[in-house]
Amino acid sequence: MGLTVAEKILQAHLVEGELKKGEEIALRIDQTLTQDATGTMAYLEFEAIGIPRVKTELSVSYVDHNLVQSDFRNADDHRFLQSVARKFGLWFSPPGNGICHQVHLERFGIPGKTLLGSDSHTPTGGGLGMLAMGAGGLDVAMAMAGKPFYLIMPKIFGIRLTGRLQPWVAARDVLLEVLRQLTVKGGVGYIMEYFGPGVAELSVTDRATITNFGAELGATTSVFPSDENTRQFLVAQGREDQWQELKADEDAVYDRVIEIDMSTLEPMIACPSSPDNVVKVSEVAGKPVAQVLIGSCTNSSLRDLTAVARILEGRETSRDVSFEVNPGSRQALENLTAQGNLLPLLQAGARVHQSGCLGCIGMGQAPPTSAISLRTFSRNFPGRSGTQNDQVYLCSPEVAVASAITGVITDPRDLGDYPEVTLPEKYLPGDERIEAPWPENAEVEIIRGPNIAPFPDFTDLPETWKGRVMLKVGDNITTDHIMPAGAKILPLRSNIPAISEYVFHAVDPDFATNMKQAAEQGVAGMIVGGDNYGQGSSREHAALAPRYLGVQVKLVKSFARIHKANLINFGIVPLCFANSEDYDLVEQGAEVVIPGIREALASGQDSLTVEVNGKPVAATIDLSPRHREILVAGGLLNWARGA
Ligand code: SF4
Repeated sequence: MGLTVAEKILQAHLVEGELKKGEEIALRIDQTLTQDATGTMAYLEFEAIGIPRVKTELSVSYVDHNLVQSDFRNADDHRFLQSVARKFGLWFSPPGNGICHQVHLERFGIPGKTLLGSDSHTPTGGGLGMLAMGAGGLDVAMAMAGKPFYLIMPKIFGIRLTGRLQPWVAARDVLLEVLRQLTVKGGVGYIMEYFGPGVAELSVTDRATITNFGAELGATTSVFPSDENTRQFLVAQGREDQWQELKADEDAVYDRVIEIDMSTLEPMIACPSSPDNVVKVSEVAGKPVAQVLIGSCTNSSLRDLTAVARILEGRETSRDVSFEVNPGSRQALENLTAQGNLLPLLQAGARVHQSGCLGCIGMGQAPPTSAISLRTFSRNFPGRSGTQNDQVYLCSPEVAVASAITGVITDPRDLGDYPEVTLPEKYLPGDERIEAPWPENAEVEIIRGPNIAPFPDFTDLPETWKGRVMLKVGDNITTDHIMPAGAKILPLRSNIPAISEYVFHAVDPDFATNMKQAAEQGVAGMIVGGDNYGQGSSREHAALAPRYLGVQVKLVKSFARIHKANLINFGIVPLCFANSEDYDLVEQGAEVVIPGIREALASGQDSLTVEVNGKPVAATIDLSPRHREILVAGGLLNWARGA
């Protein structure tokens, strides 16, 4: 049986297991990337592993999220990241150089390679024929230490593209249509693979828009073949020698297939407040717009910015609209300038910002209250913009700029003929500020400001666990409940003692204080929860910070998948009620003993007894052999050091 592109890359990187859907496999990782918001912790974790230099083919540390240096914290983090890169042999992309995914595509991505990034939009690299996946910082630290990446072998979802996009319809509209059909849960458990005659009609940056935005499907990743268009992109980047052809076999089998005829697509838009709330632009045309933002790793490549500049030639944007441009990279900005396309943007009234995430991660550019903001971003969850009651719509650069001109949501086809968009055959690389790895024998001192705290040490699992139920919560607890984000808390991500003060803050403001008092008495903590415990983002701090406070066991009705994986990584034992009605028997404050917990995990038992105030409660254990070893060792770092 033939293989898909994804299966070929998986096969070439397989170090454990077989390509059987639903079974755990381990992959060799060629490249890693981190961004600053997750990177500081990933490097503290890498330091704690104790390896003197990264073992990947290439690892890059980007600074693109927390660019605003309103006090010492972000500035300190940036210097820490630069010194860490020099010490451990990474490339370093400083603030203002661009968004990690855009810069990685331009300067580092290679068809057929694996890329693991501590950011959920890492699948952008799939536009170049990479198998590019997002993961927690500790997983990325392990990959940098030369360890394989473990995942459950996904199914392959084939998306057959036919036809070609009409003028004013963009790559963004392809994925908006996929999201409309499949919803934000439609890709869970799948790799999305694009094939068919329509693929040749899309440039690499178009493809990267699609694989990037594909993260909103909940997919493991998305991937395109590597073909002549891929080669041309690498020629323009001066990296033609890194091209290789990669295509699915004729008899490749996909687990599920849908077909998108691109000729039939119209300009689309995702309405507040979910990326899958998609309608045709014509259905919401005429609504007044207060802000238009062109940027983010989804849609701010040189192609996108050039198209916007050409559309604006001889036009002005509405004075009722704040029209803002965040270039995806210094390369995009330099080439835009060299081609004479920055001037039309400025003359049309654009506020051109530095290259980076900025408003996409709520770092500035918050829209006015209850007013419409049109963004070429990937997410419009309520409040992410920084404004409560925000009204964020997601669309292509073409829809965004047409609406900036008219001041109302506008179908861009109303503007008349689509202008000619030409791109240079050879790009200015724009990588003057990217720092290459320093030599192995260089003298480097890691610069730690007061916001950088060392990674905490954790003990292994005792034979018998004794503790107390420190908190009892209900169903659908999110990682935001456990470890909130926001402008006040985000800069503390490299400081576990400081950020742990905020654990469960909105649920029980005294939680951290109670945990600390219990720890002083030598009492460990258990948390009891309902169904779908830990849903939401992949943030590892939602496991790491509670563990720091002394939580070592969670007993719930059911766990969200990624949070359960994070709990295991940080040595918190995830147990489920064998009978969910027993949830009612366990009260906050109850004293708990779990006799033989270590042996139960080590010997592969699938259940054990939890004694709650002396009464037995049956619990189930659903863990792989590797997960059991990690938990017995007290977490992934301890396990890796001993493995
Ligand atoms: Fe994340 Fe937005 Fe930055 Fe992309 S641009 S990496 S989606 S914050």
